[in-house]
Amino acid sequence: MDLTTPLSFIKGIGPSRAAMLQAKGLETVEDLLAYVPFRYEDRSNLKPISHLAPGEMATVVAEVRSARLSGLKRRDLGLFEARFTDSSRAILTGKWFHGGYLANVLIEGLKVALYGKVEFDTYAGELTMLHPEYEILSGAPGDDDGDAPASLHTGRVVPIYEAAGKLTTRMFRVLTHRILAELPPEEDQLPPQLVARLKLPDRSTAIRQTHFPPPESDLRLLNAFRSPAQFRLIFEEFFWLECGVALKRGKARTLPGIAFDLSARVREQIKAMLPFKPTEAQKRVLKEIAEDMNQPRPMNRLLQGDVGSGKTIVAAEAAVIAVENGYQVAVLAPTEILAAQHAFYFKQILSKIGYVTLLLTGSFSAREKSQLKKLVAEGLVQVVVGTHALLQKDVEFKRLGLAIIDEQHRFGVLQRLGMVEKGAHPDVLVMTATPIPRTLAMTLYGDLDVSVIDQLPPGRKPILTKHYTDDRVEQAYSFMKTQIDQGRQAYVVYPVIEESETQAMKAAQKMHQHLSREVFPEIPVGLMHGKLAAPEKESVMQRFKEGALKILVSTTVIEVGVDVPNATVMLIEQAERFGLSQLHQLRGRVGRGGEQSYCLLVTEKMNDAARERIRTLVESTDGFYIAEMDLKLRGPGEFFGTRQSGLPSLRVANILRDPDILEVARREAVDFIARPPSPEALRRAVAYIRDHWNRRYGLVTVG
Ligand code: ADP
Ligand code: MG
Repeated sequence: MDLTTPLSFIKGIGPSRAAMLQAKGLETVEDLLAYVPFRYEDRSNLKPISHLAPGEMATVVAEVRSARLSGLKRRDLGLFEARFTDSSRAILTGKWFHGGYLANVLIEGLKVALYGKVEFDTYAGELTMLHPEYEILSGAPGDDDGDAPASLHTGRVVPIYEAAGKLTTRMFRVLTHRILAELPPEEDQLPPQLVARLKLPDRSTAIRQTHFPPPESDLRLLNAFRSPAQFRLIFEEFFWLECGVALKRGKARTLPGIAFDLSARVREQIKAMLPFKPTEAQKRVLKEIAEDMNQPRPMNRLLQGDVGSGKTIVAAEAAVIAVENGYQVAVLAPTEILAAQHAFYFKQILSKIGYVTLLLTGSFSAREKSQLKKLVAEGLVQVVVGTHALLQKDVEFKRLGLAIIDEQHRFGVLQRLGMVEKGAHPDVLVMTATPIPRTLAMTLYGDLDVSVIDQLPPGRKPILTKHYTDDRVEQAYSFMKTQIDQGRQAYVVYPVIEESETQAMKAAQKMHQHLSREVFPEIPVGLMHGKLAAPEKESVMQRFKEGALKILVSTTVIEVGVDVPNATVMLIEQAERFGLSQLHQLRGRVGRGGEQSYCLLVTEKMNDAARERIRTLVESTDGFYIAEMDLKLRGPGEFFGTRQSGLPSLRVANILRDPDILEVARREAVDFIARPPSPEALRRAVAYIRDHWNRRYGLVTVG
């Protein structure tokens, strides 16, 4: 047996278990060993029931004395109650609502470990646990412990694994124990100097002690994932990841690139183009970008700034640097509306200094497209703004020097590379409004340097956010009316669940009729959705911008980038259906001028999570805080849209829980790659990363 042995070869794993394990992504011995306990119970110093105190979390080992199902007749509904007792002869009652299924599981006489919060039921005068976790310790039918000692499950610090359907925590414990008993010790891959200096346990010991902590283990450390063994595994995972990132970054730095000249002429043109005075933060990031563009290697920079912080003008400044040096600029946007918006903005400010800006999206006719492409290929156009259509093979530039990619999280890393291939190592500036912690950003975006705009343009008033339940929607409308009467404009947005733009479009159409005919018959109301043809979209947007339309009813196609400073009301229908970051983005469409702006969140049915989201938005306008809450509520996978974004699939480590270890690992990795103890050590590490980590972490180009 070795790490690559398929789990189906392990005793006790038949075809059906193997299939269930596979569904959880566990196929080999290595996979199973990486499936570490999420919690530990101390079953060596157990408190007798008579010593339990209400309010504490406790583990109890006791016997089922009696059990009953009461309440509704239907088995899956009623309340299941079991009375447990131990040598102290005191009674503890476990209660499970919808617990009918337990009637055949927790039967009289069984020995069980229970874990939960102890409560005192004053009515019955007894100690209870509501929905405790349980584990049957004896005599369960179908148990297949084989050679595993009974002491595996009790009388020690016991690992608790996340169960999944029929895969119980007990089964994981038995299988892992069996594998560890047979598996020869693994060779340690971490550089020995590092292991010695950080006093890390060797890998085999770390794996063993993470699954089966030695008797003297500190339970608090274990449950905080900070025992020496757990630390080593988490550190190791981050270390290799960061080594891969460092290698990739180092490689990018050796490529030849364009050293843009920062002449007096460049400065003059930027001055002539600027419609306003940049903020200190904008000046600082422009300086970082300019210095980077000046270097004779390709720039790979992430420009991060909350919605409305003014990233676009900084991008325009970078564009001026490129164009004045005789190069073309490509601006890639995730949606047609945003592309149109950017094209409009760039045209407006860059035509002042004589540049030609052009929009190219998929919805243009073939003839139009081929004409536009010709202009680009001949170098008659300085700035090309577009959607994915820009990535197509037949879009050729005469001399591409700078690629600007907006809202990076909408594009994959590969698309970024696709853009780069259209020039000879052009500089790349990616922009995102998703404020993520710096270390995380550097890890996620790997080879990117990061610039942050941490200041809003002057005179902005924080947006006031109000919540209305849908029975009070009329109040929200009348508030909107008072703003329109004062000369302002408003958005009304409908949720769109990715796959049902059609449905959202219908809802928006219906609402458009309702608002324009019944609620605001005297006010011009526009309609915008993803299914409109591009010219139509552009004309609706244009009329809203000019103020001919006072209200714009829309699906979430306007989520990013749309910029109409006179709009002060953002009304979001069925706000409970949006994610936090999305709501924050939508809210960012208002508050772009000097006037007080408002976000009105209208909700229908809410669950706890939705309530939490709405509360967060009403309380805060801080994009950083909101992103962190979003990350916490949804987890990193969903937050970044997993694979697409290049988010590494970590197994033992957790970016949210372990940022401190990530920091240490990053430092060590950077140091190791920069000053390896020997060429041989570096060569070994690179080979190891290539073989084991590349695919998983998407570090495609390492080595
Ligand atoms: P985002 O970072 O969300 O892309 P934008 O670049 O769209 O933000 O800028 C938001 C609005 O603020 C735009 O109307 C822009 O013209 C304006 N703006 C940006 N910087 C400044 C500034 N320094 N002073 C005044 N207005 C600014
Ligand atoms: Mg923007």
